[in-house]
Amino acid sequence: MTEKYEVIVVGGGTAGLSAALVLGRARRRTLVVDACEPRNAPAAHMHGYLSRDGMPPAEFLAVGREEIARYGVELRRGRVVDAVRDAHGEFEVTLAEGAALHARRLVVATGLKDELPTVPGVAERFGHDVLHCPYCHGWEVRDRAFGVLASTPMSVHQALMVSQWSKDVTLFLHTVAEDELATEDLRRLAAAGVAVVPGEVAELVVDDDRLTGVRLADGTAHDRSVLFVAPRPVPQIGLFERLGAELNETPFGSYPVVDERGQTTVPGLWAAGNAGGFAEQVVNAASRGYRAGAAINGELLMTDLDAIARV
Ligand SMILES: Cc1cc2nc3c(=O)[nH]c(=O)nc-3n(C[C@H](O)[C@H](O)[C@H](O)COP(=O)(O)OP(=O)(O)OC[C@H]3O[C@@H](n4cnc5c(N)ncnc54)[C@H](O)[C@@H]3O)c2cc1C
Repeated sequence: MTEKYEVIVVGGGTAGLSAALVLGRARRRTLVVDACEPRNAPAAHMHGYLSRDGMPPAEFLAVGREEIARYGVELRRGRVVDAVRDAHGEFEVTLAEGAALHARRLVVATGLKDELPTVPGVAERFGHDVLHCPYCHGWEVRDRAFGVLASTPMSVHQALMVSQWSKDVTLFLHTVAEDELATEDLRRLAAAGVAVVPGEVAELVVDDDRLTGVRLADGTAHDRSVLFVAPRPVPQIGLFERLGAELNETPFGSYPVVDERGQTTVPGLWAAGNAGGFAEQVVNAASRGYRAGAAINGELLMTDLDAIARV
């Protein structure tokens, strides 16, 4: 038998839980389905969220799950594998284990995946001393010996940014040729005191579970205790595609076209958090989820009142 909800939220990270909190408090029958693989899981601590700075990400989400449960929101561990819109513009949702669910509105808060450079050691140390975001972890590693692994000429921007946190920065050009760097970039790198090292990085050097350097393909080793990388963001947009939502191509992947509340071009289908945009940090993802939840509640209320008024 198909279980019926007013709202199903796909993804129980910060964005999904925030939407669910608002919907639960608005007395909407809400289900969160979560595959439990939040993007920041590799990091021991979360930063930049006022009042929760330094909290372990898993603890933050555990508190969120407790909070939504207080308002009767159901949480199911699982993966949504399909969704279709029925003749009434509502949603039939299928879980991996086969369950069929029905929702009047659907929030997709499935986040994004970080595709890391394939240099040996990078994946193992990501979130520890291989980092991508100075706002998330720059303070914790300030003044240490930074490396930046270039993957495109845009990595110059990352090298310049991290120079705010350490004056000892080396940009390893890796797969980028020296002549791909713009004259203005070279000037800025020199002004920031960033050293530029050409040549492919072959592997990370790790000692006693700590990054100690990088080794180039020519065998030379450079002492570094932190390496910044630029993962390729892979937004989890399968459900938007399946439901026919319009997508926006960006240099950071394709994301659904949404209005300021997160409503996609498909009526009743909403996006929140990194599923709707590359740049959302935890606090922004929470805000996006909140906005979507509140907007959906208001929209459901007016839809139902209009239906009564028409009778
Ligand atoms: C290493 C690292 C450290 C970071 N540190 C910080 C930091 O310190 N501060 C900060 O502000 N930001 C940080 N970020 C960014 C932060 O992770 C994101 O801003 C945040 O996770 C976005 O929340 P979200 O809810 O959109 O997505 P997520 O947190 O990724 O949650 C999405 C959820 O949806 C689930 N899901 C996906 N597909 C499905 C499906 N089909 N069915 C059911 N569930 C599904 C996933 O399993 C996951 O649980 C960090 C990122 C990384 C990679």
